[in-house]
Amino acid sequence: MEGHWVTGDCWLGCERTGVPVLWLGPVQRDGQAAPFYACEPCLKRLKARAVAYFMERQPAIA
Ligand SMILES: [Zn+2]
Repeated sequence: MEGHWVTGDCWLGCERTGVPVLWLGPVQRDGQAAPFYACEPCLKRLKARAVAYFMERQPAIA
C-alpha cells in the first residue's frame, strides 16, 4: 500500500505507539476531524479482511 509513512500511534486496535504508521484519512465526528493512522500489521489485517469481503460478495469469474 502506498502512502506517506510517519512515526506515530496506531489507531487500529494494536495500540502500539512510536511505530511507522500510514495516514488513512480523517475521522470526522461532530464537525471535528482526527487523523486516522494505522501500522503495517494492522493494515495487512484490514486489507486481508477487505479482500475476503470482496471475494464473498463478488467471486472472481474463472
Ligand atoms: Zn496497529
